[in-house]
Amino acid sequence: MNTTSISVTELLAELVACPSVNPADRWPIEPPFGEARLAALLATRLRSWGAAVTVRDVLPGRPNLVARFDGINARRSIMLESHSDTVQAADMTIPPFTPTVRDGRLYGRGACDTKGPMAAMLLGIRKVLDEDGRMPVTVYFASACDEELGARGARSLIGPDFRPDLAVVGEPTDLAICHAHKGTLRWRIRTQGVAAHSSAPERGVNAIYQMNRVLQCIEAEMIPALRDRRHPLLGAATMSVGTITGGTQANVVPAECTIEVDRRLLPGESREALTAEARAKLDALAAATPAFTYALDATQYYEPLEMPTDGWAAQVVSAGCARALGAARFVTAPWASNAGVFATQGLPSLLFGPGSIQQAHTKDEFIEVRAVEQAVGVYAEIIRECGRTTSWPASA
Ligand SMILES: [Zn+2]
Repeated sequence: MNTTSISVTELLAELVACPSVNPADRWPIEPPFGEARLAALLATRLRSWGAAVTVRDVLPGRPNLVARFDGINARRSIMLESHSDTVQAADMTIPPFTPTVRDGRLYGRGACDTKGPMAAMLLGIRKVLDEDGRMPVTVYFASACDEELGARGARSLIGPDFRPDLAVVGEPTDLAICHAHKGTLRWRIRTQGVAAHSSAPERGVNAIYQMNRVLQCIEAEMIPALRDRRHPLLGAATMSVGTITGGTQANVVPAECTIEVDRRLLPGESREALTAEARAKLDALAAATPAFTYALDATQYYEPLEMPTDGWAAQVVSAGCARALGAARFVTAPWASNAGVFATQGLPSLLFGPGSIQQAHTKDEFIEVRAVEQAVGVYAEIIRECGRTTSWPASA
């Protein structure tokens, strides 16, 4: 055993025991919130493995990490990326940050989304270093912050000074290659009324009644219209109202009501066009309804992903998968990820990872340790395939 060797269980437990809950807009950022401690832990380990590591704040106290392992072919590069944040752990029924192993599963917040895939990526890199001595092409391990609440880390990761040829994003895909997924667009819609004493409601404008018209428009017109917006792989676009708040107390006509809407978009749909479409609907409502005023803000956006399965990038990933697992399987997903962000920036990106999305964000999140071990071999073979392939695009 050399000094760098660590088992899948040990490494995954170390990552889960380092809480990195997305802090949203909290300040100051205190444990269990924030990605900085995990980035520091990763930086120490990766430097001890010989990587050149940069940790750079994207938001105050919230860094992205990039570790570079130089390859024999320095002109080609692959990035393995796993986001560093997790969702919150307040409602969990297991100790979120004291990892436990039971029946072959490791339990804890982030075990599945996405520290299991992250551990497998790190050990896949370690495997190539141990067995081959050197990387065939330059290999980057990257960890972006803020994936769960807007992907602001991923959006500032790729640039003129950092542009790998290919990205594999670690998310729980059940050891399949996800090549297409929906995007997400979120709006906050507010109706503005006029407050009045509830004993004389005719003197006010009830913002909750106004919002009721918006909700009816969404349910009766906007949602049914989505049935015809279909993608051959991803099915129909969807829309869902997630939250509503309004009013202050029973004896006041409410002056304000707010909802949050989640729209899952398809490859080819643009957020600007969708927002303009929603505004047009609400403008029509305003024209037909006395005293109706509203405000609509787009609050979050994740780009959709669509990569061809017969393209060179998918072929490199599937060849690596087939070598390690005996076969490669392509799937699609209704959820969004950093891969959509990278692909929109022109970086060919696919998703692969151990674990099931069914266990992500749950009260008793876990991952099968065996699946993480299998993924280690797949990431190692994807790296090796980068050395074998001759099909890099000329423009890369
Ligand atoms: Zn994730």
